[in-house]
Amino acid sequence: MTNPPDLRPDLSRAHLTEARRPGQPTIGMVSLGCPKALVDSERILTRLRAEGYGISPDYTGADAVIVNTCGFLDSAKAESLDAIGEALRENGRVIVTGCMGADPDHIRDHHPRILAVTGPHQYEQVLDAVHAAVPPAPDPFIDLMPAAGVKLTPRHYSYLKISEGCNHHCKFCIIPAMRGRLSSRPHRAVLREAEKLVESGVKELLVISQDTSAYGVDWPRADRPQGEQPITALARDLGCLGAGQDLWVRLHYVYPYPHVRELIPLMADGLILPYLDIPFQHAHPDTLKRMARPAHAERTLDRIAEWRGLCPDITLRSTFIVGYPGETEDEFQTLLDWMDEAQLDRVGCFQYENVEGAASNALPGHVPDEVKQDRWDRFMAKAQAISEAKLAAKVGQHMDVIIDDIDEDGIATCRTKADAPEIDGNLFIDEATQGLEIGQIVRVEVDEAGEYDLWGKRTA
Ligand code: SF4
Repeated sequence: MTNPPDLRPDLSRAHLTEARRPGQPTIGMVSLGCPKALVDSERILTRLRAEGYGISPDYTGADAVIVNTCGFLDSAKAESLDAIGEALRENGRVIVTGCMGADPDHIRDHHPRILAVTGPHQYEQVLDAVHAAVPPAPDPFIDLMPAAGVKLTPRHYSYLKISEGCNHHCKFCIIPAMRGRLSSRPHRAVLREAEKLVESGVKELLVISQDTSAYGVDWPRADRPQGEQPITALARDLGCLGAGQDLWVRLHYVYPYPHVRELIPLMADGLILPYLDIPFQHAHPDTLKRMARPAHAERTLDRIAEWRGLCPDITLRSTFIVGYPGETEDEFQTLLDWMDEAQLDRVGCFQYENVEGAASNALPGHVPDEVKQDRWDRFMAKAQAISEAKLAAKVGQHMDVIIDDIDEDGIATCRTKADAPEIDGNLFIDEATQGLEIGQIVRVEVDEAGEYDLWGKRTA
């Protein structure tokens, strides 16, 4: 499971400042879904920009609109269909791509007027569809590309996609069916992209994929580094890009393999952030077995203790599913007890939902909605209490924060190393923020804590 529901950069707008030149063909983009889809949107826009297209921030200025859809949950599919309907109403010329594009008939049944449908990662086909709808008209003297391409995230952080697809068969997930088997980008290509991003002012790289710790295991043995996993070698090289300057490297979507341990010393040495986003999904061995996930929750507790021993500052974020088919009250209680032991710093939780095509739909013992809701409420109450206690313990500590925004009242919204953008909390500085800039990393002392956020004052 890799799509936190609150991580929805739907309203993404390309960060481009140039005005539209006369006669320039212009495309709008609505990007739904997870950060991986956002990276796809950036790639498409970068290619279009390189071909001379303008990028419109609204429907009316666009000659056609691309809707990059999310098909992960049925609710996300419904939202994607709504977004396509809105683009058709507001603009009328719509090209659909992304995860839902894997089922073009379903989309055409709802919206027969769309110009074209392409599936996930079919960059060339999306470009062909755009060329057919709005022919390019390049001007080599004007259409200069920013070195890092077009970005939909703020300039100081960027998602870096290192692989596509997944070799696991978690029963609730259709990503392997939609996106195929693991296919890792070459180490040098990822590093080159990261270098360009850093040169263009990016201060934080958010490493994403469907299964980050599996990076490179699809390569022939001879192409893999000796004595360590490809992800360890990549994480070290990314961390080294920041030598002598401020660069944060954050790993997302790490599957709980034993070799994750190799990454912890890099965190302890300060090469990459001491932050692990590792979806555990559940803690009861029977539930995990029915999910087709690794089923050794006690061993996971031992591993967590070992990671904390090697890197005491490590922040652990995870996601869980409650109300999975067959989940008994006992199994759920095991999950709550496990949470007491694991004391994870950041937690997201889904109520189980059937997804068309998922093997879990056919499992017996589907849990009634009101039981799912009750379990979700109890789980979140526990997670919130743990988060609150952990944040309260930070009051008085000194730490670095990165500034994401400064509003007109001078309040700076920042994040600590324990907070990923969009999904975790914030640290706010509400005084002495004159002269600070977005993207700057500054030192603060934490002076107040809430359930999910912190407040602090500058110390240097
Ligand atoms: S590990 Fe692969 S199959 Fe399992 S939830 Fe993640 S993407 Fe889906």
